[in-house]
Amino acid sequence: MIFYKYIIITPMKSAKKDIRAFTREQLRDFFVNQGEKAFRGNQVYEWLWKKSAHSFEVMTNLSKEIRQMLDDNFVINHIKVDRMQRSIDGTIKNAVQLHDGLIVESVLIPTEKRTTACVSSQVGCSLDCKFCATARLKRMRNLNPDEIYDQVVAIDNESRLYYNRPLTNIVFMGMGEPLMNYNNLIKAIDKITAPEGLGMSPRRITVSTSGVPKMIKKLADDKVKFKLAVSLHSAIDEVRTKIMPFNEHFPLSDLREALQYWYQCTGSRITYEYVVWKGINDQKKDAEALVRFCKFAPSKVNIIEYNPIDDGGFHQAEPAILEMYREVLEKNNITVTIRRSRGKDIDAACGQLANKS
Ligand code: SF4
Repeated sequence: MIFYKYIIITPMKSAKKDIRAFTREQLRDFFVNQGEKAFRGNQVYEWLWKKSAHSFEVMTNLSKEIRQMLDDNFVINHIKVDRMQRSIDGTIKNAVQLHDGLIVESVLIPTEKRTTACVSSQVGCSLDCKFCATARLKRMRNLNPDEIYDQVVAIDNESRLYYNRPLTNIVFMGMGEPLMNYNNLIKAIDKITAPEGLGMSPRRITVSTSGVPKMIKKLADDKVKFKLAVSLHSAIDEVRTKIMPFNEHFPLSDLREALQYWYQCTGSRITYEYVVWKGINDQKKDAEALVRFCKFAPSKVNIIEYNPIDDGGFHQAEPAILEMYREVLEKNNITVTIRRSRGKDIDAACGQLANKS
């Protein structure tokens, strides 16, 4: 079903500039240099971000001459929802085509009270988590701020169309490691939260990282207002390195120190995302190590159901093992939630995003 109007432009062949790479101030300066009033820059900025305009033609509060002048100088790059799939549980997965033809995926997850967008930050991923389908793609490039922003707009539109309500939450848990695309991530979130963008509260946004200590500290120094989640999966170095090889370079002691710093600076508690796999982290000692790690800074644990990928040797642990984790954590006053996965039938669940559609 097509319900967006998209223009695909290949900037390589065009000398025109990408107007969405301009800040509001730069647009104001552009107009002043053209002998126009600076406030025209504000008007264009609002069309580009708040109203997600896809052409200069629709900017009806500008004269025909100004619209032509913009068209002569700039292009408006937009993503295109190339394919949309709906799961039997209501989850929607978008295969999103970027202006250079590359594809990423994003997901809408509806529940009774919320609609959450799971958004991608990179095409592929440079990390090599053994259980993750995206890792098979390798990193091709970072997404630009507008490409991140547009995924959210597309899901907000779908939420209104299919569920009669706006998007309520965003998690950066799609393809890629968001903190490896730090500047563009922050610029996108600035626009998502700005009144002249989508005006969403940062408290409804969660950035989920595999745990890059230096960048977690940078988030803390930058005093971000959104929430932080860490895909932990093991609190024992040898085990974590086996399933997330970069742990060899960023061991748990460094991660722990960065998370303590995060809490000191922001006062915001950390969520640990955790999958329990058969034969990997399904022993009581694994749960006890998690308890010890949780005590370093205020935190809660989401135990997530695993979705096998084609060639993976990873299998979800039995329900009794998840209950063992719950007991051990709760006995130590750590909040734990066991989450069912959504959108499994369309490969939209956690760890399954790999452009198979
Ligand atoms: S789990 Fe996240 S960080 Fe790890 S390979 Fe997959 S996308 Fe990258």
